[in-house]
Amino acid sequence: MSYKFAVIGGGIAGVTCAETLSSLCPEEQIVLITASKLIKAVTNYQQVSRTLEQFDVEERPMSSMETGCPNVKVIHKMMKTLDTVKHALTMDDGTVIQYGLLCICTGGKPKVICKDNDHVLGIRDTESVQDFQKRLKQARRIVVVGNGGIATELVCEIEGCEVIWAIKHSSVTSTFIDPGAATFCLPKLNEEKPKSDEPLKRRKYTEQDTDVDSSGNKIPSGSALGPDWVNNLEMSGADKKGHCVHVEYKVEVANILTREELLSSGKSETQQSVLTSTNSDWPVFVELTNGTVYGCDFVVSATGVVPNTLPFHDNNFKLAEDGGIQVNDKMQTSETDVYAAGDVCTACWEHAQHWLQMRLWSQARQMAAYAAKCMVAHTCNESISMDFCFEVFAHVTKFFNYKVILLGRFNAQGLGTNYELLLRVTKGVEYVKAVLQDGRLQGAILIGETDLEETFENLILNQTDLTPFKEHLLDPNIDIEDFFD
Ligand code: FAD
Repeated sequence: MSYKFAVIGGGIAGVTCAETLSSLCPEEQIVLITASKLIKAVTNYQQVSRTLEQFDVEERPMSSMETGCPNVKVIHKMMKTLDTVKHALTMDDGTVIQYGLLCICTGGKPKVICKDNDHVLGIRDTESVQDFQKRLKQARRIVVVGNGGIATELVCEIEGCEVIWAIKHSSVTSTFIDPGAATFCLPKLNEEKPKSDEPLKRRKYTEQDTDVDSSGNKIPSGSALGPDWVNNLEMSGADKKGHCVHVEYKVEVANILTREELLSSGKSETQQSVLTSTNSDWPVFVELTNGTVYGCDFVVSATGVVPNTLPFHDNNFKLAEDGGIQVNDKMQTSETDVYAAGDVCTACWEHAQHWLQMRLWSQARQMAAYAAKCMVAHTCNESISMDFCFEVFAHVTKFFNYKVILLGRFNAQGLGTNYELLLRVTKGVEYVKAVLQDGRLQGAILIGETDLEETFENLILNQTDLTPFKEHLLDPNIDIEDFFD
């Protein structure tokens, strides 16, 4: 089997790359190799502003790709080895595929705090969420470890089960928002979830057959979940009570102990007034670095992802400090004719002043579409300039039931200490933070329906000198969109 273009991975990066290649080169044969039977597709794509985008994600059977893109062949196999000299990929059943140009989109793997412990779950794909839901139904208390997007969404959604949220920072959701914004959002943490009559946007095939390789071993690597993964999930525990979250700040997990291990260590469960559950027959205990010991039914480890480079351990890819495959400004890896995109890669080009990499849905899509364009330009010997989406970091999401928009250096990343913050806060309604350096807007956090995203994005892109208007920038009585027009 020989193909001009090969793509590995049925997540958003792999699918976007194959779709873009297909539309740019309808005459060429493209192969998409995926270990998971279901592939991820972007739907309802909306360009919110020049760099902000919003979309839904659908899990679809592999065959849908071949229907939409007739020159793409989808192969459901696990890639085992890559020979970059012979331009050959070998699958787990021995099949060999020759390629002209290859794009690696094998995603990431959850960083689980304690491997091989049945009481500790990582959340990454549909299968791991199903496992989580099943266990949650019987659970009275769980411990969630981690302070990023997944942990935040979980603790906000879980009902009928006490949640201990263990974070190593002094404020919640610190991967995305600053302590001020966290304080603004915190009252929502223990509020009842609003009931929505809206139909669910995401169509999901939950009945995923467990994939097995040629030797009958379970293939674990489904694609990562996406922006609205919590929307249509039942997240209820065994209790009838509603929402109950207790945050333990500035802690890490010191030990995970069975009942026997706890008894033999001479330690005991900490009795806290914050806890509502009076059970003591916990199957597992979590000791935190502040000395507190919590009994619980299980632990969710939501402590980030590591790039999934395992299939390439025998290759000589240059890896970045975070373990990702290094890519340059053309999405090329250090190996000839091999590109990479999405969670597996690390952007090692000189970034634009207001862009940074975060392993997000939107960036997986953007990198993959751009990688496909670079691959096509390569075959035609054409030059290509960097896509505009890499000019400004822009992300829209929902946390604590608020719309959250992050722009540029939203947490003053890399600005040292020489910057200024402007704030506008209306309790329960909106939180607006503008980060300025030398009178110019470098980044912003917009929480709530602020309607400021387009103007702020333009101010970041144009680097307008705001020194004369600083006083008025966040004045609610001034229509700044009109003003800057
Ligand atoms: P993946 O989706 O991980 O896809 C990798 C693909 O490679 C899979 O299909 C896998 O089967 C395949 N593969 C791996 N190894 C092999 C092999 N050897 N052979 C063949 N195929 C292989 N991002 C946001 O922007 N907003 C959010 O709200 C958000 N929430 C998230 C919630 C959860 C629970 C998780 C886990 C992630 C979330 N993310 C979110 C992150 C986002 O999902 C990822 O950044 C994005 O999915 C990465 O896409 P990808 O295609 O690079 O990787």
